[in-house]
Amino acid sequence: MTHVYDNILGLIGNTPMVKINTVTKDIPAKVYAKLESCNPGHSTKDRIALHIIEAAEAKGLLQPGSTVIETTSGNTGFSIAMVCIIKGYKCILSVSDKTKAEKIAYLKALGATVYICPANVPADDPRSYYEVAKRIASETPNSIYINQYFNELNIDAHYKSTGPEIWKQTEGKITHLIACTGTGGTLSGSAKYLKEQNPGIKIIGVDASGSILKGYHETGEINKEDIHPYQIEGMGKNLIPSALLFDQIDEFVRVNDEMSAYRTREIALKEAIMGGYTTGAVIEGLLQYAVKNPFKKDDLVVAIFPDHGSRYITKVYSDVWMEEQKFVNNCVHNYEEVFKTERIK
Ligand code: PMP
Repeated sequence: MTHVYDNILGLIGNTPMVKINTVTKDIPAKVYAKLESCNPGHSTKDRIALHIIEAAEAKGLLQPGSTVIETTSGNTGFSIAMVCIIKGYKCILSVSDKTKAEKIAYLKALGATVYICPANVPADDPRSYYEVAKRIASETPNSIYINQYFNELNIDAHYKSTGPEIWKQTEGKITHLIACTGTGGTLSGSAKYLKEQNPGIKIIGVDASGSILKGYHETGEINKEDIHPYQIEGMGKNLIPSALLFDQIDEFVRVNDEMSAYRTREIALKEAIMGGYTTGAVIEGLLQYAVKNPFKKDDLVVAIFPDHGSRYITKVYSDVWMEEQKFVNNCVHNYEEVFKTERIK
């Protein structure tokens, strides 16, 4: 039998790549999207959840009934919960009370125990979601704390899977890799592998406006003035993750909420690929990079599309949300293209 698996975890990795034909038509290079939404948990985080949990098993740190703990309301939480179901572990996630009810419902549907912690307390307050996760980890026997921002196995997961897949799928012809950075694991691990094959491959990181990562890459310092609230989830940070290997990255570009939202909807409408908010961000980053660094016809760009748009129905794909953000009235771009509800009165 082919394409038949023992359980859902057999589907993790080996994600397809698809050529982007319309949205990037002004760039002479060929642009391919690596569709991480094709993982069974619908995001790139399946790879690290499986890798980190299996590494802990190999070290004898987990037995049936053990507990896996993490602080996340995002994709990593969904992936850990999925892996825990199949492997028979408990999953505890601490999230902030800003997390939407539908996300908490999703995590609970996958069996996770969710601790909802106040968002408006300092990170070192015992009630913060960082401190709650740390306390639960220290009080729970037979448990591991994933700690994705500071876990080198996050890099290793992509060094061993995403990087080699991209090299093979492009038959070594890749010239540029571009990805949004949150923990930095996806880009760092893939970059490390790809640069070992061909040191000439350019690695481009996409940071969020409101985050310190681009500034830190350029100056080696944290510029507190860079920090402000922003809407895109999963990318950018107000601390420096050790899972982000800054020396692997040639250049960072910074994107804002509005243009990333616009691109996300444009990609859905023109490529029929319904990606998450950072899918728009990575293409916006690529188009910005191309202005200063013109591409050649033979260049082959791989852009990581990290997750699926179904998680953003009440956000970037909601006309109401777009209006609330004032993204519509600004009309810096032709929003009619991506915003065309007709209401029958
Ligand atoms: N996009 C989304 C939607 C994510 O959840 C993440 C993970 N935080 C990223 C991009 C960035 O991936 P990484 O953490 O590997 O840098």
